[in-house]
Amino acid sequence: MNERDSEQVARMFVEGGYTLTGEEQEADAILVNTCSVRDQAEQKALGKMGMMGKYREKRSHVVYGFMGCMAQSRGEELFDRIPHLDLVVGTQKYHRVFDYVDGILRQRMEGRMDEVGAEMTSLRVEEELTKGRFVDRGEEEGSQNTIRDHVASGTRQASAFVSIMQGCNMRCSFCIVPDTRGKERGRPITEVVEEVKRLAGQGTREVTLLGQIVNLYGRTEFARVDGKSPFVQLLEAVHEVDGIERIRFTSPHPIGYRADLVKAFTYLPKLCSHIHFPMQSGSDRILKAMRRPYRNEKFVAICESMKAARPDLAITTDLNVGFPTETEEDFQATVDCVKLLQFDNSFIFRYSKRKDTPAAEMEGQLPERVKEERNQELLRLQSEIAMRKNGALIGTRQEVLCAGPSKTNKARLSGRTPQHKIVIFDGDAERMTGEIFEVDIEDSTGFTLYGTACLEEAVALGIPTVFALTTTPAFFERIGFSQAAVSSFPRKVWHECFRCPKYARCDEIAVSIDLRDRQSLDPHGQPLP
Ligand code: SF4
Repeated sequence: MNERDSEQVARMFVEGGYTLTGEEQEADAILVNTCSVRDQAEQKALGKMGMMGKYREKRSHVVYGFMGCMAQSRGEELFDRIPHLDLVVGTQKYHRVFDYVDGILRQRMEGRMDEVGAEMTSLRVEEELTKGRFVDRGEEEGSQNTIRDHVASGTRQASAFVSIMQGCNMRCSFCIVPDTRGKERGRPITEVVEEVKRLAGQGTREVTLLGQIVNLYGRTEFARVDGKSPFVQLLEAVHEVDGIERIRFTSPHPIGYRADLVKAFTYLPKLCSHIHFPMQSGSDRILKAMRRPYRNEKFVAICESMKAARPDLAITTDLNVGFPTETEEDFQATVDCVKLLQFDNSFIFRYSKRKDTPAAEMEGQLPERVKEERNQELLRLQSEIAMRKNGALIGTRQEVLCAGPSKTNKARLSGRTPQHKIVIFDGDAERMTGEIFEVDIEDSTGFTLYGTACLEEAVALGIPTVFALTTTPAFFERIGFSQAAVSSFPRKVWHECFRCPKYARCDEIAVSIDLRDRQSLDPHGQPLP
């Protein structure tokens, strides 16, 4: 979610004429989007911002700002921690960050208040900006409708996040989100669908619908229709969008995970076979202490019904170990449930106190040593399960959406299966990014699969021709093969031809690829630039 919010702010700057830089020392504005889920994340953000203060020595105009959850929860006190800080902007004000930073920068660069933009004047923040320290973390009606269109127009992003709601009405005793993100507020279905259509128009193939408690989307604003929750209605509407081939959502809560959502996985094929479904603990006593209003039995039953609805479903989860008063028996209940449900992967958190949460004040805080031991035991168990599950995929063929060069090895490509497993393979980034094709899996770790894109196999088989990326008769005539002849190629090769990565970009024009030398040709056989 923070990633999506950061992208939205970055987009506003780009559209406002700024350039993004990867070099901190070149930046005119340095903004850190903060998370409050764990204390460690806050300390890291504070440390990073502290370090970056040195750039002001040489460039006095640089604007420093905190955004997001820590900004929301700590507010003014951040100025005491970070003396060079200029701006603190809360979670309902991301859409205002550009105006604030731009206003401060203009003042500093030009030294003239009359240059401050009209928006700034209407926001009545001149006085605070003049002091150089400005905080905006108030509630803003309709702010959920400002969390949109974070992907810059003209940018092709294979997979994109779409925020559908803000806030959370639950009150888990370890979580600060209800304080930092406010009450649940959903965007209208039509607005979400319009955003998804715009993304599809830019070439996005996969959307992930985001919300703190995503399956409860719209429960306070929109009506159930034909027994379907607003969330299922939204899934159906997004499913209708041409060009979108995969739909994900995160994170659902066991409360409100009803039969209509389970059933949606049986008739909405674009829904990916993966859910990230936070369990937190396998002990009912601890769930109660966490103020998670469900029993483990219900969580297991939902997982089982989901697996029945989608047999190739992968389930990942969040687990919280070492919660106050957690006994060995409670912990073993979590271990047993992990063994039972065989999660594909888990984010395992060692409980740490979060300021201003009820759990931080509870009796029975556990020693760090106990938390660490339990954390390690669960990590070992989860790692064994993930290694075994991924190992079982060696020798299979998996559908992959290529996201582009791998983050850890730019020479290779990376993509995800519908089960959200990362796959690494070789290929042409320009041609394959944003396309869906199959990869033969040859190796694995607990986190990653490695394989060969099936397109490569067609080359290896030495099919000496140009393959059709369109099925118009004129095209077959030009390439010198009849449609029947192409159809008679080994099924595997034929299949690859028509799933070639260029296919989706092929409008009405017959474009082809010569698999021998990877050349793209126009309808007249001339290489495309
Ligand atoms: S459901 Fe619980 S853990 Fe999730 S955001 Fe809401 S309060 Fe936090």
